Amino acid sequence: MPLFKTQTLKIYNSLSGEKEVFTPIHEGNVGMYVCGPTVYSNVHLGNVRTFMSFDVIFRYLKHLGYKVRYVRNITDVGHIVDDVDEGEDKIAKKARVEQLEPMEIVQRYTVDFHHILKEFNFLSPSIEPTATGHIIEQIEIVKKIIDNGIGYEANGSVYFDVVKFNETNHYGKLSGRNIEDMLANTRDLDGQSDKRNSQDFALWKKAEPQHIMRWPSPWSEGFPGWHLECTAMSTKYLGNHFDIHGGGMDLKFPHHECEIAQNEACTGQTPVNYWMHANMLTLNGKKMAKSTGNNILPGEILSGENDILSKAFSPSVTRFFMLQAHYRSILDFSDDAIVAAEKGHNRLMEAMQGLLEIEAGAASTLDIETWKKACYDAMNDDFNSPILIAHLFEGVRYINLLKDNSATLSAADLKVFTATMQAFVFDVLGLLEKENENQNGKLEGVVNMLIGMRNEARANKDFAMSDQIRDQLITLGIQLKDGKEGTSFSL
Ligand code: AMP
Ligand code: ZN
Repeated sequence: MPLFKTQTLKIYNSLSGEKEVFTPIHEGNVGMYVCGPTVYSNVHLGNVRTFMSFDVIFRYLKHLGYKVRYVRNITDVGHIVDDVDEGEDKIAKKARVEQLEPMEIVQRYTVDFHHILKEFNFLSPSIEPTATGHIIEQIEIVKKIIDNGIGYEANGSVYFDVVKFNETNHYGKLSGRNIEDMLANTRDLDGQSDKRNSQDFALWKKAEPQHIMRWPSPWSEGFPGWHLECTAMSTKYLGNHFDIHGGGMDLKFPHHECEIAQNEACTGQTPVNYWMHANMLTLNGKKMAKSTGNNILPGEILSGENDILSKAFSPSVTRFFMLQAHYRSILDFSDDAIVAAEKGHNRLMEAMQGLLEIEAGAASTLDIETWKKACYDAMNDDFNSPILIAHLFEGVRYINLLKDNSATLSAADLKVFTATMQAFVFDVLGLLEKENENQNGKLEGVVNMLIGMRNEARANKDFAMSDQIRDQLITLGIQLKDGKEGTSFSL
C-alpha cells in the first residue's frame, strides 16, 4: 500500500492563509508547476534555495508514493527589466550588452542552471518547457481572453483589463490586495500608455523595430507577456485545474495574481488548488538578488572564492544549511551559519556510516515506531524539514547508544530504523552520501600532496619536475594557482 494512504499531509496554502489537508484531484497523482529561472544570468544562491525548497517537496511527495508530474519552466523571453510592462526584455538586454544572439544567452545560462542543479543533487523535473517553445499556446489564450471581453488591443499590444475582470472575479485574492487600493496608490496614466488602467498588464507586446525577439500574431509581430507564459505552460501539461503551483514569495504579486486572473478569464475556472510560496535567502539582512549584486553564486560556495567565506563548502553541506530552515522562513546566509551547519552535517553523515555497522540484538530498548512517526509528522506538517532534522539527530543519538551497546534493537526494528534514516537523509533531504563527499576530500588530499612534491622540486631547482607536475595536472583539468599564501588549485 502506498504511504500516502496512511499519512495525512498538510500544506500551507497561500490562497487561504491556512494549512490544509492535501487531497489531490486524481487520487495517487500530483500535478505541480514551479516557476523556473529567467535565463539571462547565472543563478545565485537565493534562486537555488527556492528551487531546493521545491526539490524537497517533490522528493517527499514521491517518497509518499505519489506519481508526480513536476513541471518547471525556463523563462527565455518576455520577462521585462523591473518586472513592469514598459522597458527592455531581460534577455534581449543582456544579448545587446554582450553582443550575442538572445538564444546564445538563453543557452549559456540554461546550461549553467542545469550544471548547478546537478552539483547540488536536484532531481530533474518531469517536464521543463520553454516560453519560446509555447508561443502558439500563448496566442490562443490571448484570443480567448479577448473573446471573453477581458483583453483589449491597443497599437498592436494586448492588455488584460483588470477592472473589467474584477467586476465578476476577485483580482487580488492571492496577495490580499483590492483593486480600489491598487488604483488609488498608483500614478495616473500620463496619456503615453496604451493601457486603460495602470494595473492592467500586458498579454502581448508589439516589438519595437530594433527588438530581435519577435513572433507573428494576429495583433503584431511581438512577444508574449511574462505572466502569460506560465499560464500556457502549466495548463498545457497539467490541465486547466491542477494541484500545486509554487514559486518564490516575491512572485506572489503580480506574477501569480495575474496567472490566476488569466486562467479565470480564459476558462472560467480557478487553476490551482494549493499555492505554495518559498521564502527568501538574504545576505546581510537583504534579499539576495541579481540586480543589486547582493548575492553569492553557488560556484563560489563550492570554491570558497568570495570574501565573506572562510573556506569552501560542499553541496551537501549547503543543502543541509538551507534545509535547517523551514521553506516559509527567511534564511540569512553567513559564514558562521554555514560553518555551524557543516559541523551538524558531518555529525549526521558520520552517524549514517556507523549505522551500517550496527548489529541486531535480541530485543529493542528503543521505541523506533514512535520515533519514525515523529519524522513523518514533521514532514506532513507543511514539509517541516528543521523539525525532521531534529528527529534525525535523535536518530544519531540512538546510533551512538547502539554502537556502545547502551541500547539494542531487534532485527526487525533495526531494519525499520536503518531504512527510515536512509530514506529521510538521502531520498527526501537529498543529502549526498559520505562516500561521494569523501571522493572530493581524497582528491583534495592527493592534489595537496602533489603541490608539496612540486614545492620540494622547486626548492631543489628541479624545474623540469615541478613543471611536469603542473602540466599533467592541467591535462586532468586541475589548475594550480601560485599566490602569496602558497599554492591553491581549482578543479
Ligand atoms: P528569477 O530567475 O528572477 O525569475 O527567479 C527564479 C526564482 O528564484 C523565483 O522563484 C524567485 O522567487 C526566486 N528567488 C529570487 N531571489 C531569491 C532569494 N533571494 N531567495 C530565494 N528565492 C529567490
Ligand atoms: Zn511563473
